[in-house]
Amino acid sequence: MNAFEATNHYLRNSMEVMELEERVQKLLLQPDRQVTVEVAVELDNGNIGNYVGFRSQHSNARGPYKGGLRYHPSVDMNHANSLASLMTWKTALVDIPYGGAKGGINCDPQKLSETEVERITRKFVDNIHDVIGPTVDIPAPDVNTSAREMAWIMSQYSKLHGFSPGVVTGKPLDLFGAQGREEATGRGVWVICEEVLKATKRETGNCRFVIQGFGNVGSYAAKFISEAGGKVIAVSDVNGAIFNGNGLDVPTLISLVKQGQSVSGYKEADSISHDELLRLECDVLIPAALGEVFVKDNADEIQAKIIVEAANGPTMPEADEIFNQRDILVVPDILANAGGVTCSYFEWVQNMQYFKWDLSKTRKELDKVMRESSRTVFNLASSHDISLRTAAFIIAIGRVGKARVLQGI
Ligand code: NAD
Repeated sequence: MNAFEATNHYLRNSMEVMELEERVQKLLLQPDRQVTVEVAVELDNGNIGNYVGFRSQHSNARGPYKGGLRYHPSVDMNHANSLASLMTWKTALVDIPYGGAKGGINCDPQKLSETEVERITRKFVDNIHDVIGPTVDIPAPDVNTSAREMAWIMSQYSKLHGFSPGVVTGKPLDLFGAQGREEATGRGVWVICEEVLKATKRETGNCRFVIQGFGNVGSYAAKFISEAGGKVIAVSDVNGAIFNGNGLDVPTLISLVKQGQSVSGYKEADSISHDELLRLECDVLIPAALGEVFVKDNADEIQAKIIVEAANGPTMPEADEIFNQRDILVVPDILANAGGVTCSYFEWVQNMQYFKWDLSKTRKELDKVMRESSRTVFNLASSHDISLRTAAFIIAIGRVGKARVLQGI
């Protein structure tokens, strides 16, 4: 089963509980538009680099398409379709006026210079500018993209269409970015952890957390969790994994990573393998790297009590079934990592109004959306004895389905 099939499998499960007709199911599953473009640029050594860029626009039933751009060798249309579909349901679940999209460029940014990444980004915009825009499709950062790439996208799009800060979110603070956007996904993950711990009668201060991936999402989740008293006992990045049962010093780790080092450079911990990290005994395991982490072959060995899906699509359906049987509670990605797109929405609103919020307002509004959304999901799951994932999709499908039907086919 590939990533898009896995997403559709979850959707079909919820649609069947909702008893949606087959023709309506089909209508909601299929992406609206799939764009593939060649991104050819001159490399620093004078050679030509040929890359392929993708944008999948899944649904705009509830507002402009919205979703991140990923630069990674695994990027293809299948992953873009899966992630775009997840965005449709995520924006609906937290009830913001967007649809879903996703895309990226198949490349390895670790092997490219900054100027090469800039040329690739600008060329990609040249090739997709007529299908994106502040009221059409609004990209944002994802794996290996950040405020830097968003600034180039805004600049290139504005050259073609006039001043357009609302064309992307996740921009630098000095270029129409929003206070709190960088931390928002990780902060949202922490809020969701608090809510799920409360719902299961646990306390953050008594819990051990393991985090896979220590980039934007993983590091901010670790920051807020440790500030709330939670013990982060293991983290990893692409280069390695570390463990200390007494807890890691998160601020030290963050400053290490900011200097460009791997988490493996942290001295007060044992080095472990990526697989060992996933199998550690802990209260909350947070995948915050790439998708397809939990599969049939490792699901039986996971010892966490709760999994909070900060990454998109980390759990394949066979593993999800095993987790359900083993009473491992899984908080689905479309809820757990929705803080990023929620804050992107705040940024876009500020851009459209040429207005600025301060950090405390952003945090207050973000926390409110995350807490209310999680309670809606938890209540539906417990009242109907269904998984949190099925409940989250049912709420989202209901909202998108209604908007789609009201507009006519
Ligand atoms: P990032 O590029 O900032 O960080 C990714 C991290 O994962 C890095 O530390 C990298 O070294 C690590 N990693 C990669 N492969 C790994 C592996 N095999 N084992 C362990 N670590 C590995 O990306 P990010 O923005 O933090 O995104 C992480 C996940 O969160 C992605 O699934 C993304 O789709 C999702 N997400 C991100 C946002 C956002 O606002 N950035 C919003 C919602 C969801």
